[in-house]
Amino acid sequence: GSELVIKNLHANIEGKPILRGVDLVVNQGEVHALMGPNGSGKSTLANVIMGNPKYEVTDGEIWFKGENILEYSPDRRARMRLFLAFQYPMSIPGVSVANFLRRSLEAVREGNKPLEEGENPTGKMGKRRTVPPGEFRRLLQEKMKLLKVDNSFINRSINDGFSGGEKKRAEILQMALLEPEIALMDETDSGLDIDALKIVSESVNALRGPDLGILLITHYQRMLNYITPDFVHVMYQGRIIKSGTKELALELEDKGYEWLTSNENGVA
Ligand code: ADP
Ligand code: MG
Ligand code: MG
Repeated sequence: GSELVIKNLHANIEGKPILRGVDLVVNQGEVHALMGPNGSGKSTLANVIMGNPKYEVTDGEIWFKGENILEYSPDRRARMRLFLAFQYPMSIPGVSVANFLRRSLEAVREGNKPLEEGENPTGKMGKRRTVPPGEFRRLLQEKMKLLKVDNSFINRSINDGFSGGEKKRAEILQMALLEPEIALMDETDSGLDIDALKIVSESVNALRGPDLGILLITHYQRMLNYITPDFVHVMYQGRIIKSGTKELALELEDKGYEWLTSNENGVA
C-alpha cells in the first residue's frame, strides 16, 4: 500500500524554525490522530507535507509512494492522491458546490494522463480535459450517499454563507470524491462547533477503510470520543514527543499535556 514517510523534517516560517525534527509514518488504511497544544506546529506539518511555498524545508525528507516528494509542486502531490482538507478552498461567486467539486476532480485526474506536446500542466481549468458527466454524477451520488449529504447542499453556491459545519461538509465531500490514498485533515483554528465535530467524526468513520490513510489533526481530545484512531501522536515545540495508541489519548485527557511537556526537552 501507499505510505507517507517523514524523516527528521525541519521547516521554517519567515526564518523562524517551527518544525524541529519530525518523524512520522502514515500507511494507507491507518487513522493517525496528531494532537498537541496550540502553536506546536501541527498545521505547519500539514502545510509542509502538501508543499505550501510559505514554509521553507531546511532538513529532512518526505517520501510518498516510494518517491521523495520534497521538490514536487502542491498540484503534483495532489495528483499523486495526497490530500489536504483546506479550511476553505476557494470562494468564487456563483460557483455551486457541485461545480467546484467537478473542477477539483478534473484537476486531480489530469495528472493521470500523459501531457500532450506543448500542453501546459498548470493551465486554466477550462483547458483541462473534463471528467465525463455521467461518471461525475455517479461518483458524486455515491459519495453523497456515503456521507449523507442531500442534493440541496451541492446546488448551493460555495460562498453562500456556509456555517462551520457546512464548510467542513464541503471539504469532506471533496476529499471523498478525490479518493486520496493519504488525507491530512486539519481542524480550523477557530475551533469546531459540536455540529462540525459530528460531521467530521461521522465522515471519517464512513470513509475509513483499507484504501485510505488519515492524519487527523486536532487539539480536542473529545474528537477521539467519536473516532478511534489506530495511532495517537503528540506534537510539542515542533517535534513528535510521544506516540501510542488510543490509550495515549485517554491518558492525555486525564493528565493534560503538562504531563508530557513539563520536562522542557520532552521525551523520546
Ligand atoms: P498548531 O497548528 O499546532 O496550532 P501552527 O503550525 O499553526 O501550530 O504554528 C506553529 C508556530 O508557527 C506558532 O508559533 C505560530 O505562531 C507560528 N506560525 C504559524 N504560521 C505562521 C506564519 N504564517 N507566520 C509566522 N509564524 C507562523
Ligand atoms: Mg493553532
Ligand atoms: Mg493548527
